[in-house]
Amino acid sequence: MLTDYHVHLRPDDRDATAARHFTAANAERYAEVAAERGIGALGVSEHVHRFRQALEVWRHPFWVENAIDDLDGYCSFVREETELRLGIEADFVPGREDRMANLLARCEWDYVIGSVHFLRDAAVDMEGDFDVWRSSDPERVWTRYFEWLGEAARTGLFDILAHPDLVKVWGRERPLPAGDLRRFYDRAMDGIADSDVAIEVSTAGLRKPVGEIYPAPAFLEMCVEAGRPVALSSDAHSPDELGHGYEQAVDLLESIGVERIAVFDRRQRTLEPLG
Ligand SMILES: [Zn+2]
Ligand SMILES: [Zn+2]
Repeated sequence: MLTDYHVHLRPDDRDATAARHFTAANAERYAEVAAERGIGALGVSEHVHRFRQALEVWRHPFWVENAIDDLDGYCSFVREETELRLGIEADFVPGREDRMANLLARCEWDYVIGSVHFLRDAAVDMEGDFDVWRSSDPERVWTRYFEWLGEAARTGLFDILAHPDLVKVWGRERPLPAGDLRRFYDRAMDGIADSDVAIEVSTAGLRKPVGEIYPAPAFLEMCVEAGRPVALSSDAHSPDELGHGYEQAVDLLESIGVERIAVFDRRQRTLEPLG
């Protein structure tokens, strides 16, 4: 089995509208490419911040700008007009867990993907006004990032923990901490070990400046040792990105001894043989 669950039906720009991309024809394009590439389970996970109901959770200026679409319309579109699994990519917003739980209760998901993009008001993966790297030193950013990742796992809100070391996204284009990075991974491990979350292996990092799979092998090993299952995704934002770099991901998983991957149906997880 190969899966692709962390998938967006459109690019991240605001002018990629729901009207144009939440269509049966667009979903069919994704399904066709997935079938060609041997991906047996395909689902979508639009960003929570693109739905106006997300403003009940958080009113970050970036969310206010982007929260245009109707969440219920997205859910009924996926369920009624496509064969895709229904997911969402939701942010961990500390202190807003109850509000996020209320938002997530509106739909019957196959899975909820949890992401840490923001550390307070600044984002680790965004250029411009909200770029955390405009002022912070890498030791502090990496420490906080992994602390929050562990807290995100511990909330129990999420079935899958997305791109688990996203903080490395820029590679050498931003300050990097020196030495053995496991001291940061350790910050997340208590929360991850205490949770029931699946760890995403995402090939999206191969398309980013860092040029690596998320997470780093050492971090993935720690998660697997803690008993966490793995969910495989590409974070595609267009059909041609589906399954991107999967040979490399499968090699990584095999090298760590992962033989089965997580499959989701109405938030029930089972494990299927990888490959
Ligand atoms: Zn993300
Ligand atoms: Zn994503």
